[in-house]
Amino acid sequence: MKKNISIIGGGACALILACELDPKKFSVSVFEKNNALGRKFLVAGDGGLNLTHSESENEFVLRYTPHQFFKEAFSYFSNKHFIEWINAMGIETFVGTSGRIFPKKGIKPIDVLKCFEEKIVKNNVALNFKHEWKGFADNNGLIFKTATGTKIIQSDITIFCMGGASWPVTGSKGDWRSLFEIKNIKTIPFQASNCSFKVEWPKNIIKEIEGKPLKNISINCGNKIHSGEIVLTAFGMEGSGIYPLSPQIRAQLKENESAKIYIDLKPHLSADECLKKFESVETKHSYTENIVKNLNVNKMQMILLKSKMSKNDFLDPVKFVNNLKALEIQISGLGPVEDAISTVGGINLNEINKKFELKKMESNYVIGEMLDYDAPTGGYLLQSCFSMGKFLAEHLNDLA
Ligand SMILES: Cc1cc2nc3c(=O)[nH]c(=O)nc-3n(C[C@H](O)[C@H](O)[C@H](O)COP(=O)(O)OP(=O)(O)OC[C@H]3O[C@@H](n4cnc5c(N)ncnc54)[C@H](O)[C@@H]3O)c2cc1C
Repeated sequence: MKKNISIIGGGACALILACELDPKKFSVSVFEKNNALGRKFLVAGDGGLNLTHSESENEFVLRYTPHQFFKEAFSYFSNKHFIEWINAMGIETFVGTSGRIFPKKGIKPIDVLKCFEEKIVKNNVALNFKHEWKGFADNNGLIFKTATGTKIIQSDITIFCMGGASWPVTGSKGDWRSLFEIKNIKTIPFQASNCSFKVEWPKNIIKEIEGKPLKNISINCGNKIHSGEIVLTAFGMEGSGIYPLSPQIRAQLKENESAKIYIDLKPHLSADECLKKFESVETKHSYTENIVKNLNVNKMQMILLKSKMSKNDFLDPVKFVNNLKALEIQISGLGPVEDAISTVGGINLNEINKKFELKKMESNYVIGEMLDYDAPTGGYLLQSCFSMGKFLAEHLNDLA
């Protein structure tokens, strides 16, 4: 008799698992508390569905914190494998700005989701909506709350993919931690990642900076530098230029209750090159006009620099350049988990083995954002789900 597999949660991980588990070997069922699959997958597609990234496999895996836990799954099903896989499903892709991979223009996120769903239906996977997992029962039983009451389902193999805790409106609330703690499985409270960062801006500049971008900058935090663009907000700042520094910022916040970042407003010029620009001052212009003209310092950069420097320092070219190249900003907190793109926290990675099986609960697996790892935006989050899902599906197919 075929063993049954229960997939709990119907997000990105479940989509690939349900496509790839072998229906000749298993009876596969998905249990999702919403009445549809992939709600967060569709939200992710709102500003363009960034499926993965085109960078080399060696660089790719280093984007994850920690990266060791994920290495084997990624080598087995890398970004290149995923692109081939999704192209073969009929979803053509293209490489967008900064190497990010998207479905070809004209293909909407819902079309990609439908493609997955067609494959899942062909695979004879049973889809159970409005089934909210509520805990473990005896003898491999799973407790569900359904529209008609509580139900217990026996499961030979269970794969948990209930996501993290950001954007709870999509169903991923992270409210399952205590259900694992009861089984002595260690979990870690959720924290925001790829989120907004709190900065106590001087009140007088908030109106001028709110919603404005700082482009072509690089930011240094701890031992890491990242280049890109950020948006300044009344709360602080956010954007792809700072998201990859989330692990370093969180670590400093944990230690000191504040984190320091240093913004290089002219990353393409060295400090010496910047200073040289002061030599070509034109006397018909004021000191500030010369800065604007020779160093191409824009209004936003000027507002920030002035807010952080005394008048004397501002008028001293060496001190001015020091700030231009490393403007210190203090971060005093993280934005709310609910508004973040992703979360860290969840199941402690020490609780799973290399195949994502819970060490204390044989035949129970956990993948995706339920696990305590971090990845920046850029397609790395979805790729991690697809790599883990495909890797686990093939592992189980081979075992049967
Ligand atoms: C605004 C936004 C934009 C994003 N953009 C991108 C992007 O462009 N590229 C990228 O790579 N990543 C992006 N992400 C992140 C990406 O969507 C997630 O990392 C990914 O969806 C996680 O997949 P998952 O399968 O682990 O969990 P999820 O996709 O969150 O799925 C979990 C599912 O489990 C269900 N569930 C939860 N609890 C239970 C329960 N008790 N019983 C039954 N079902 C339950 C939920 O309803 C949900 O459907 C974005 C995220 C957000 C919020």
